[in-house]
Formats: sequence, structure tokens, C-alpha cells
Amino acid sequence: MNKTEEMKKIRDEVLNLKKSPLYKYRVDNRYFPVIGQGNHDADVLFIGEAPGKNEAEKGVPFCGASGRFLDELLAHINLPREKVYIANILKDRPPENRDPTPEEIELYVPFLDRQIEIIKPKVIATLGRFAMTYIMGRYGLRDKVTKITDMHGKVYETAGPSGPVKVVALYHPAVAIYNSNNKAELKKDFEVLKNLI
Ligand code: URA
Repeated sequence: MNKTEEMKKIRDEVLNLKKSPLYKYRVDNRYFPVIGQGNHDADVLFIGEAPGKNEAEKGVPFCGASGRFLDELLAHINLPREKVYIANILKDRPPENRDPTPEEIELYVPFLDRQIEIIKPKVIATLGRFAMTYIMGRYGLRDKVTKITDMHGKVYETAGPSGPVKVVALYHPAVAIYNSNNKAELKKDFEVLKNLI
């Protein structure tokens, strides 16, 4: 199977994920799952938390207010969105954008793990604490996890199953939209990211 076929297989499996506690909510609201978007050979993989309303209506990650800010951050470091891949920890929208539950995370992360295996990114940029915590644990860096206020903008080098990976913890763009301090910090952290590619 080529990379596109493998990604489509993931999409089909998520579409039929009836055992998910978010499945009925998706169907009742005529939402789409949000699998991910971008270049299957990307050097940089961004991982957010879960789709919001806009994303679930379109099936596209980061296409609402957070997405506009993410686009601004990408433009700030001259990194075209088409060159990266963007995915989330959860593939379905939780009601009222509540935090993902541990059970939901456990159910959806095998799909993300497969996406990482397909893309084999050199850099994984986590957006927010859920993606940060999961990825740090997945790559043997659990003991380095502290508060995101201490970790953001730092680079953690590790050995992934398919080679070395650099993990960069970033604030979630949604947090920064209304907080100009966070916004400035996120811009600086994107400059750190730029220096890795
Ligand atoms: N927030 C996320 O974490 N992911 C999205 O796709 C959109 C908003």
C-alpha cells in the first residue's frame, strides 16, 4: 500500500468507529471525523487536541479561529501549510469542546501512531498539553513532562521507531488568541521550530 492508501484506510476505519463514545455525536450532528491534512512526506508534523465545530463540519483540521492563527504562525516562519502535516489526538469532536477523556485518547491514538509511521516526520510539534503529554510518553520522555509553561519552546531529541525525532512543545494556538503574552511566546517558539528545519 502506498502512503495515500494507508491514510485512506485510517480514514475508513475512523469513519466506522462505532465503539467510540463520540461516534453518535458525530452522526447526530452530521459532522465528519478529522483525520489530518497535508504532505505525507512532511518533515514537520503538528499535533493538536481535537476538532472543534468548524473542523468537524468540514472534516479539515485547524480551519476555524485557531487555524487562522496557526496560519499566521506558519507565515511568520515562511513555512507553507502544504509542506507540513496537521493532525489531532482525537479524530472526532468532543461535545462543547470539552477536554478529551483518557478513554477517548486511548481509543484514538493508535490512528495517530500509524500516521506518524506513515509520515516519518523529523520534527513533531505538539500544540497544547494533551498532544505534548501523549507524544512525550510515546517517545520515552515521560519523566521530562512538567507544566507546559516550563516546557514550551524546548526541543527534546529522541529515537523514534523509524529514526531520530525532535519533539517541540508549543502552546495551543487557541490559548494564545486572546492572550497577547502567549501570542508573542508562541511566535518566538515557532522561530525555534524554524531553526530545526
Ligand atoms: N483545535 C485543535 O486542537 N485541533 C483542531 O483541529 C482545531 C482546533
